[in-house]
Amino acid sequence: MFDVYCSGHGSRVLMGMDSVRRLRNTAHGPEVEWRCSCGTTGTWQPHRGAGSAAKVH
Ligand SMILES: [Zn+2]
Repeated sequence: MFDVYCSGHGSRVLMGMDSVRRLRNTAHGPEVEWRCSCGTTGTWQPHRGAGSAAKVH
């Protein structure tokens, strides 16, 4: 699971696997297309994490 900022909710929302529409690989790494229960869609990039600067590869 992961949490994203949802503009429909106006806050961060926890997404489960059933919120994932598809996974794809981009030039910048893997990207998840999600759809919130409120109908808002967006993308999330796992390698960017949740804004933590401690994750260095
Ligand atoms: Zn939402």
